[in-house]
Amino acid sequence: NTRAAGPNVILINCDDLGYGDLGCYGAKDIRTPHLDRMAAEGTRFTDFSVTSALCTPSRAALMTGKYPGRVGLATGVLRPDAQNGLAGSETTLAEVFKAAGHATGCIGKWHLGFVQGMRPMDQGFDSYYGVLHNLDHWETVVFEKEGGMPVLRGDTVEKRPAVPAEMTGLYTVEALKFIEQHRGRSFFLYLAHAMPHLPFDASPRFKGKSQRGLYGDVIEELDDSTGQILDKLRALDLADKTLVLFTSDNGPERKTPGTAAPLTGTKHTVYEGGLRVPCIVWWPGKVHANRVCDEFVSTLDLLPTFARLCETPAPANLDGMDQTDVLFDPQAESRRTTLYSLYGYKDRRLESIREGRWKLHLTPKNMLFDLETDLGEQRDISAQHAEIVKKLMQMAESVKSSTTPH
Ligand code: MG
Repeated sequence: NTRAAGPNVILINCDDLGYGDLGCYGAKDIRTPHLDRMAAEGTRFTDFSVTSALCTPSRAALMTGKYPGRVGLATGVLRPDAQNGLAGSETTLAEVFKAAGHATGCIGKWHLGFVQGMRPMDQGFDSYYGVLHNLDHWETVVFEKEGGMPVLRGDTVEKRPAVPAEMTGLYTVEALKFIEQHRGRSFFLYLAHAMPHLPFDASPRFKGKSQRGLYGDVIEELDDSTGQILDKLRALDLADKTLVLFTSDNGPERKTPGTAAPLTGTKHTVYEGGLRVPCIVWWPGKVHANRVCDEFVSTLDLLPTFARLCETPAPANLDGMDQTDVLFDPQAESRRTTLYSLYGYKDRRLESIREGRWKLHLTPKNMLFDLETDLGEQRDISAQHAEIVKKLMQMAESVKSSTTPH
């Protein structure tokens, strides 16, 4: 009855899922039939990158279409006792959808500020369910005296402590409920899974089932969750009205069975393995089926792209670019050619910049890679291409001076 312009959008953001962890991205020891089918019915991106291989900066960019440095979240993660976060004055994805007339729901990890004015329902979401934080010791310790990590509904504690093995199941139930409740109107659902971030765990139905141990079980449960969501859309006759995008906030954690193969690097690096993540887009009848798209796209681009789809204005001065053409037209070329990435402070600082096929690491020393012939970033050719190195250094400096205060 109340349909706004543009599709419903469900944005499924996994936490630390690697580029090579899904069947349709080459995994042989994890079964992901639902995501493989989603890719067969939709478009699978092979060059989709986050800005930073760390939860908070990556999510800041996703939520605002701006480099995280521009919103004061260039490096580091926000622990539960942090007083800073994403300013209420920033325009978020949720606020864009709300302006377009969509109902907006957030389920899962937030990691963008926890004090009043910075939580999901202060940032354009009509509803919130989930754990705002990570479930690792660095964050659960803050809640030890009050009975453990809370699972919130709105601002109310619904359950504690949060149990890692239960999170995917709980979030799936909530997502299905949200879709059911909003079937008669336009909606945006941001489903930010807790998994497979450490400490990862799966529910009993999935444990011991995959060939990659518990990590694989966790991914198979995420696959099943996505299958349930797509089935629900089909059952409610919403498939042709709903765009579903499945991705991750950064590459796999070090020393876990997660893999970014054939890429090099992990989370906490500026190698492709940290930055390039799976991205599958599904919108039957609208987004091409069985398409593999090699165009260069970033999470920065989602906000302006969704704004265009919903015929609502995007804020000015974004780092993101409208990629609607790339989404619908296999002949279209991405408007994105560059992407700057930063990780960490001081002597642990890592930086890189992409310009098309060229990728320059500025740390620990200048290293230039040609991603077209060396996707694994193995052969430093900076000595042979001094001009390209110089140009990319200047580009990095220009992004830095306008986005990174420290
Ligand atoms: Mg993460």
